[in-house]
Amino acid sequence: MALIVKKFGGSSVANAERVFNVARIITEDYKKGNDVVVVVSAQGDTTDDLIAKAKEINPDSPSKREMDMLLSAGEQISISLLAMAIEKLGFPAVSLLGWQAGFSTNSSYGVARIKKVDSERIRRELDNKRIVIVAGFQGLNKHDDITTLGRGGSDTSAVAIAASMRADVCQIYTDVDGVYTADPRKVPKAIKMDEITYDEMLELATLGAQVLNNRSVEMAKKYGVELEVLSSLDPKPGTIVKEKVKMEKMLIKGVAKDNNVSRISIVGLDDTPGIAFKIFNKLAASKVNVDIILQSVGRDGTKDITFTVTEDQESDALKALDALKDTMSYKSITSDTTISKVSVVGAGMESHPGVAAKMFEALSDAGINIQMISTSEIKISVLIDKSEAERAVVAIHDKFID
Ligand code: ADP
Ligand code: ASP
Ligand code: MG
Repeated sequence: MALIVKKFGGSSVANAERVFNVARIITEDYKKGNDVVVVVSAQGDTTDDLIAKAKEINPDSPSKREMDMLLSAGEQISISLLAMAIEKLGFPAVSLLGWQAGFSTNSSYGVARIKKVDSERIRRELDNKRIVIVAGFQGLNKHDDITTLGRGGSDTSAVAIAASMRADVCQIYTDVDGVYTADPRKVPKAIKMDEITYDEMLELATLGAQVLNNRSVEMAKKYGVELEVLSSLDPKPGTIVKEKVKMEKMLIKGVAKDNNVSRISIVGLDDTPGIAFKIFNKLAASKVNVDIILQSVGRDGTKDITFTVTEDQESDALKALDALKDTMSYKSITSDTTISKVSVVGAGMESHPGVAAKMFEALSDAGINIQMISTSEIKISVLIDKSEAERAVVAIHDKFID
């Protein structure tokens, strides 16, 4: 007998037929005598629809607390429907909201971090031979208010339960049959991987491959939770995510695209010591995460500083800069969201020269202009025009992976 954690994404439970499909997958494991804990996301596009409803009421800035109250409702629907489907198949099930399942988080509404999962209630239900269905993406903060974990957060809920209960298996079911070298819906030649390391998966997820949420991978690595990414519609082995994988011929593990990028430029800044510190210190204090930074060579006593943030944080970043306006001298501040970040990822590339050149060659052959570049030992990212991003991913993918 094993303790199995299974997570089903929104598309896997999008309608009644899919809910029953998931119920059957779950009861197969239960029938074999296993303890089964299931994490579910909101059905289909429910979360997007709820966000649209909030915008109808307040297009600018609905309070973050109320947003979380609203968004958590999506998962409340799917857990109860799934529990009903399992009951209908003749098996005992109980649905639990995040707080009932013991999820405590910090107070950062919309991007809350899980502090602890007190799994006592889940344990009790399992001991009573029930299948436990938990609402993903949500928890409770110290004020007893509902929080959400950020888009795609149900993956993290599943890993957190698997880690805290030391589950034997953690399976992430989705609408593709594993992790590919690029989004298989956009890149026809993408190849499915049998396994991938936490580090490479973390990079891919952080750089835009939404198949796993990056925090879930971070947590899986930290607690040594082996993950399997697989399809809820096509029963076959998926991709295993773990610490070490067998030697691979492939240098590049994948190509990812991130459209959630804004570039902010401060032009004609006074070229004096301490100015970068002032700007980035202020951004950090405003909890804005800065990604790529570029500073121009100084000219006539001035310089330009350009950096990127996620599009969601653009307005927080601009507000932070505005608060500095009387303490620094500059010509203008501009922001631009018509860009995308495209990246290649692979742990092997630090010891192989020429990866960057090959990537740039692919873009040059495709006639795509590079606006900014950033590298680390495991990835190379370029910023390009958003309208060319899909073409860029295919061009780069086909250059590296055959
Ligand atoms: P879920 O609702 O199950 O959480 P998501 O939509 O969040 O599913 O993630 C699955 C999607 O991720 C796939 O449909 C696929 O289009 C996309 N995706 C992006 N990059 C990759 C990749 N490298 N491998 C597999 N899927 C990817
Ligand atoms: N329903 C949430 C979202 O759409 C959480 C998730 O799907 O993981 O982002
Ligand atoms: Mg997801």
